[in-house]
Amino acid sequence: MVATDHVSPDRPSGEHLHLKALRTGAPGITPELGATFGQAASVCLEDRGHSIPVMTGVIGDVSRTFLLAWDKTTAQARRTWNDLQWATEFGAYGIATLLVHALTDLTVMKRSCKGTGFDFCLCAKDDEQPLFQGKARLEVSGILDGDSTLLQARARQKLRQTAVSNGTLPAYVIVVEFSEPCSLCSPPKLPEAITKTKASPDTGAKLSEPSTVPSVEAKVDSIVYVTRTGSKYHRAGCTSLSKSQIPMTLSEAVKRYAPCSICKPPTLDEKK
Ligand SMILES: [Zn+2]
Repeated sequence: MVATDHVSPDRPSGEHLHLKALRTGAPGITPELGATFGQAASVCLEDRGHSIPVMTGVIGDVSRTFLLAWDKTTAQARRTWNDLQWATEFGAYGIATLLVHALTDLTVMKRSCKGTGFDFCLCAKDDEQPLFQGKARLEVSGILDGDSTLLQARARQKLRQTAVSNGTLPAYVIVVEFSEPCSLCSPPKLPEAITKTKASPDTGAKLSEPSTVPSVEAKVDSIVYVTRTGSKYHRAGCTSLSKSQIPMTLSEAVKRYAPCSICKPPTLDEKK
């Protein structure tokens, strides 16, 4: 058995994430606001009919799945977040914060000012003086009920938005979708470039390289779906996906799954 950290591509089920982790806050998020973000996300997930825990997929550079849990919402919480557009925005902040913690060595350092083109500044988790060591920018967007096409379109839109903001810090865009549910994290190269532990020899020195729109366009164009228990991957809308559908990049899916014979999804050979 090869020793791996939490990025093992062979793990069949997901790691566990719990929205209550947000209640501890972050350098730039008070515990109170973190709890608020988590509550909003919980309302969105329940509105979309999910039960606890739900399998959620992350697509982008790496495909990952998580088992996402939360504390059941109260009637009062659902009345509070009765405006689901509002809940989606805050809930996306919550899930994006959890994903930043799960996928990188970064955490939220502070809220960005309006007009800067992004939502949060990120710093290293173990930074002694986080206020002076910004490492990246984060732009977050939420979609209550959309498909992977909308997810990708939103990511491109947000990347263009972050591209116009000045500053040389790399920009993350995380789009959180609540109906499947899944999230898209981009740009693809940044997790290796920023986090010390996962840097590979040929990608380790790109810390200050600003993100570009083409890099994400090239990366997110081939999304396929797998099911919780099956061994095949599928196109969106395949009849085999009625029970569960977990989005995944094609390059990741082909390592562990075979193409479905019904919907005939693309293969890596066709992409080249
Ligand atoms: Zn299929």
